[in-house]
Amino acid sequence: MSTKLQKSDADWRQSLTPEQYRVTRQKGTEPPFTGEYVDTEKDGMYRCVCCGEPLFSSETKFHSGSGWPSFYQPVSDEAVETESDTSYGMRRTEVNCNKCGAHLGHVFPDGPRPTGIRYCINSASLKLDENEGK
Ligand code: FE
Repeated sequence: MSTKLQKSDADWRQSLTPEQYRVTRQKGTEPPFTGEYVDTEKDGMYRCVCCGEPLFSSETKFHSGSGWPSFYQPVSDEAVETESDTSYGMRRTEVNCNKCGAHLGHVFPDGPRPTGIRYCINSASLKLDENEGK
């Protein structure tokens, strides 16, 4: 993994809530329809909860009905990295923060226009920055 920010496991554990740690550092998934940002429509920038990097703009958020915050594209190509994930007997593509390697969620080829891609992201991996809008 070509991450630019390296912190020890103990440091991550200390700086995150148990749920944030479980999702981002242990590739966890929050239960659907429980996350803070599932229905959020506020303007702003969704940043990585671990390192603060801007990841997704509210402009690209949509209601997917999946129970997780969904976006049709990251704020830039460099913001996220994807990786093949074959855990739990499924063939999926995992999405991680490109800067710190935080697990964010998965990406699926059934999103809306203009990209047709759905980034299915755990609320626990995000922090909405309402001061940074459009
Ligand atoms: Fe990060």
